[in-house]
Amino acid sequence: MKIIESVQEMRSICKENKLKLSGFVPTMGALHDGHKSLCVASKANNEITIVSIFLNPTQFNNPKDLEKYPSNLEHDIKILDELEIDYLFLPKYQDIYHDNYNYQIHETALSSIMEGEHRPGHFNGVLTIVLKLCNIIQSTNMYLGEKDYQQALLIREMFSALFVDTIVNICPTIRDEYGLALSSRNALLTPEELNTARILNQNLRSSHSIDEIINQLEKNKLMVEYITDYKNRRFAAVKIGSVRLIDNIEIALMT
Ligand code: AMP
Repeated sequence: MKIIESVQEMRSICKENKLKLSGFVPTMGALHDGHKSLCVASKANNEITIVSIFLNPTQFNNPKDLEKYPSNLEHDIKILDELEIDYLFLPKYQDIYHDNYNYQIHETALSSIMEGEHRPGHFNGVLTIVLKLCNIIQSTNMYLGEKDYQQALLIREMFSALFVDTIVNICPTIRDEYGLALSSRNALLTPEELNTARILNQNLRSSHSIDEIINQLEKNKLMVEYITDYKNRRFAAVKIGSVRLIDNIEIALMT
């Protein structure tokens, strides 16, 4: 695997490989099996795969969340090497945001509910970084997780709105054996909090009403930010102590 830090170098490598089928997996690092599944999907369907690790400050509305966000580059590089990823793109903040974030992508509909409502400015940061990375890499395919479904929809719609050719592939959420969606933030939970976190998906999956689910979660010391049905999915955000977790499931899969 080649590690590229320079935006210019990444651009010229991608230009040289323009005629090849390419897959891109954007991440913020602290890689787990969820990220790995996106890499595997890209490897299976493309001639070259590029993964980026960039802890994007503009999408963190809460500075404390950014400060304690887990990171372990050595471990990430080992994982990506084992997966035989072709290129790891590790850009620097000043190169990506040489405009001082004066230019931002702002979506005005879907980004104002759920995550957008509870994390002001979050989706401006997400959409801006994804468009910047996408313009540098210009891959045939991009791989995103169903875990962040609202984000994936916004990115797919942005590409359609702005005539970006890259195809958005949304891959299933990878969960632990108790149904908890894997997340880099899970590493911040104590063993006791981890057990509590597992209650989220178990309840989301049930056919109970949203009010009943909120009651059940709050009884178990989960602080519910929202549970919302949107189109054919049920979305939730909760806090356990200071750790914020999100999940969503297809309504048809409720038991
Ligand atoms: P992040 O590093 O959290 O920005 O995530 C990078 C990509 O991995 C995003 O497209 C996420 O939706 C995806 N992802 C994160 N967790 C999971 C998971 N448990 N299963 C599948 N994809 C995931």
